[in-house]
Amino acid sequence: MRPIFQPRLVNGPFGDPALFVDILFERRALLFDLGDLAALPPRKLLRTSHVFVSHTHMDHFVGFDRLLRVCLGRERPLTLFGPDRFIDQVEHKLAAFTWNLVENYAVDLSITAHEVTLDGWLRCATFNSRDRFARRDIAAAPLEDGRLLVEPSFEVRCTLLDHKTPCLAFAVQEAMHVNVWRNRLAELGVEPGPWLRDVKRAILAGAADDTPVVAQASASAGSGGRTVALGVLREHALQLVPGQKIAYVTDAAHHANNVRAIVDLVAQADLLFIECTFLEADSADAARKCHLTARQAGAIARAAAVSVLVPFHFSPRYAGREVELRAEAQAAFGGTVA
Ligand SMILES: [Zn+2]
Ligand SMILES: [Zn+2]
Repeated sequence: MRPIFQPRLVNGPFGDPALFVDILFERRALLFDLGDLAALPPRKLLRTSHVFVSHTHMDHFVGFDRLLRVCLGRERPLTLFGPDRFIDQVEHKLAAFTWNLVENYAVDLSITAHEVTLDGWLRCATFNSRDRFARRDIAAAPLEDGRLLVEPSFEVRCTLLDHKTPCLAFAVQEAMHVNVWRNRLAELGVEPGPWLRDVKRAILAGAADDTPVVAQASASAGSGGRTVALGVLREHALQLVPGQKIAYVTDAAHHANNVRAIVDLVAQADLLFIECTFLEADSADAARKCHLTARQAGAIARAAAVSVLVPFHFSPRYAGREVELRAEAQAAFGGTVA
């Protein structure tokens, strides 16, 4: 199956945290953390629709300015999520610039910032370039099961971790993956095209089998549109398999509450991006700085039965010793380390 999520760490494992997740066929992307984004070309940055910030230590939030710079003047709104006090921090970032000429942009940039409160609510405020990014608060809502974003094709959940400051970990889960057999489409006299995206949406929305679908007829069948029942496509040319799950965990103290919260969130993920900041030999430093060691990260990945572990956020003190960090995570995990 071709996964719809195409995740890539923006920087190397010693660089600032930022995970860019392209979404296939949707011409848009998600961003997890906003460390230094200089390595991400503007055309990619412009695809970002939603940003999930674990916490606002500088190495996770310094890229906000670059994102804002690139997105000013674009039509698509930008939605951000972060931990407690995040809305204040977005407001202060925006207030640090002078906006007296911003109305000259042809289109408005609308920014919506959400924060997960300590008692499990989702607070929300908007900022629009039209009003020189003045803050407008919107009513808060209870956060159900950590669900930050629910769309027909995927959802993003979070859990609250302790890093001596509230820190969020995230998991993005594809609803259901629809595989397409091209040869069987051909047998039905149709060929792949943008219409398949609507078919997938209809299936995820639970549409009935007799729903008519206008498919692209193959050249041999005279091209143009050809109406096929959804149930016929489902039976002959489509296969539904469990969707892809990607988790992103960084900056957490190692204690029972955090470990339980992480394991619950990332259980059975296909890919787990997890900090491996210290070697176990330096676990006292890791504890003092509220970070995980590579061994602890590996053990968490094992307990959560994830498929592949991707270590990152290595401390600069280990420059040239990347292999040791990976080996330690691998030994504790026992599975594939990318
Ligand atoms: Zn931190
Ligand atoms: Zn950090």
